[in-house]
Amino acid sequence: MFLVDTICNMKSHSIYDTLERLSNLLRTDARGKGSEYGLQPIQLEALHYLSLCNRFSDTPMAVTEYLGQTKGTVSQTLKVLEKKGYLRKQPDDNDKRLTHLKITDDGLALLKALIPTPLFTNGCKSLTNKAQTEIDNALKQLLVAIMKSNKMKSFGACHSCYHNEKRTDGYFCTLVKKPLSIEDIRLICREHKEIA
Ligand code: SF4
Repeated sequence: MFLVDTICNMKSHSIYDTLERLSNLLRTDARGKGSEYGLQPIQLEALHYLSLCNRFSDTPMAVTEYLGQTKGTVSQTLKVLEKKGYLRKQPDDNDKRLTHLKITDDGLALLKALIPTPLFTNGCKSLTNKAQTEIDNALKQLLVAIMKSNKMKSFGACHSCYHNEKRTDGYFCTLVKKPLSIEDIRLICREHKEIA
């Protein structure tokens, strides 16, 4: 048992070291690219999140939860993005306390130009499709394991969600009690609950 624990420990150290090196590379690269547009990494990260999340998850609170930052930091971040014209606020149709954050065309063009950065795509291009698929699957598996074992919000998509119900006329979310479009089901959600 001691030997198994030691081997697991060594593997987790190795995975951690590799991911840390990758994170540093990507963050440094993103910092450089973002600064060309006067943006901090966190501002780019918030904009990127808003391009990935569904219509139930595009609120300041969801951005705060996803980025793991304070409300104050996220509020400042969103103000900068709005001022630069990369996002706009939109009140919820039914609940006036809710504000949605919508990416503008300029914001989408910026993300297209910056994410993923050439540093990353060049590296990926040098790998086979099979290797890219294996890495993608393994990283997703690790992400789910970290989220689950630490009881964190999973921010997954509808296809792996407990609340997603397949009906004869399409998909339906039993939590928000709304039909889901094809667009909805490919985006990430703050209410996502992994199927057990
Ligand atoms: S099915 Fe799950 S992931 Fe999809 S909208 Fe509903 S709660 Fe969110």
